[in-house]
Amino acid sequence: MTISTPEIADVAGEAASAVHIGFDVGGTKIFGVATDGAGKLLHTVRKPTPAGAQHLVTTLAGMVRQLAPQPGPVSVGVGMAGLITTDGRVTISPNLTGVDGATVGADLSAALDMPISFDNEVNCAARWELADGAAQGIDHGVMVAVGTGIGGAFMLRGEVLRGSLGLAGEPGHMIVEAGGRACPCGRRGCWEMYASGSALDRLAGERLGGEVRGPDVTAAARHGDVGALEVLGEYSYWLALGISNLCVLTDPEMVVIGGGLSEDWDLIAQPVDERLTQLLIGRAAESRPAVARSKAGELSAALGAALGGAREHRAALGGAHTEGAVPDGGSEPVT
Ligand SMILES: [Zn+2]
Repeated sequence: MTISTPEIADVAGEAASAVHIGFDVGGTKIFGVATDGAGKLLHTVRKPTPAGAQHLVTTLAGMVRQLAPQPGPVSVGVGMAGLITTDGRVTISPNLTGVDGATVGADLSAALDMPISFDNEVNCAARWELADGAAQGIDHGVMVAVGTGIGGAFMLRGEVLRGSLGLAGEPGHMIVEAGGRACPCGRRGCWEMYASGSALDRLAGERLGGEVRGPDVTAAARHGDVGALEVLGEYSYWLALGISNLCVLTDPEMVVIGGGLSEDWDLIAQPVDERLTQLLIGRAAESRPAVARSKAGELSAALGAALGGAREHRAALGGAHTEGAVPDGGSEPVT
């Protein structure tokens, strides 16, 4: 996949060999990307997410050296699943182990001896979608990233809404069934217990047999398997239910679907659309929000983290691109 991030390429005075690194730290795996000074995606690296903040920082530092050997990167941005404050503290990350309360960005900054941009991974993805992806020109949008859990981000006037502490945009933990399934966040009935990739795994096992998982269902559905299509139909209801709640709250022009599920969006776009027709209120059919797949799929969060790192690097230099460099306030550079 060749994806350019032109905004990075426009940095005045930056060497063509400059490398920007971005990470997407998810519940199951870490995506790392390197982009060059011309904005071109150079390398991607994928590793399993380790348990514990210290192991995570060590793993990320190793991936930085792998992605950008000497002289190293110009900037590093980290997007991570979980609720992350603007001052860089992970308040809770239900799908990662041993990171609650950690300051992963600051610890990685110390390990690499350079500033690190650190934010929620779907906030990063939304920045990339606004800058170079599906949400270019969108004033009011919602991003929903479906992977191990469900992450989200709200786009307001072309910027990412952070909230008072930086914790806005976590629709995976809005409750869609009171007293429902127990969630790792400690409550019951959260949306991601019904509409995440993990939830699809569980549903597949329940409906089609204990060993069947989500990827088996999507593969079988591509061959027209009736049982698999029924599972996706049931799953689509839960996905549409949460999306309709977000639409009631924010009245978006567009809902961008990211995360691993976006790779199979062609399979479920229609059943989700049909259920949204039943669930959406207050909108005439012709004014419904567009539901679009992320242009970079699973890579959008890592690319957005690289973009965030580049913007903060640029702002710190106080160079020609200071204006608009961090249009949404971004995350504070962690030093
Ligand atoms: Zn929850």
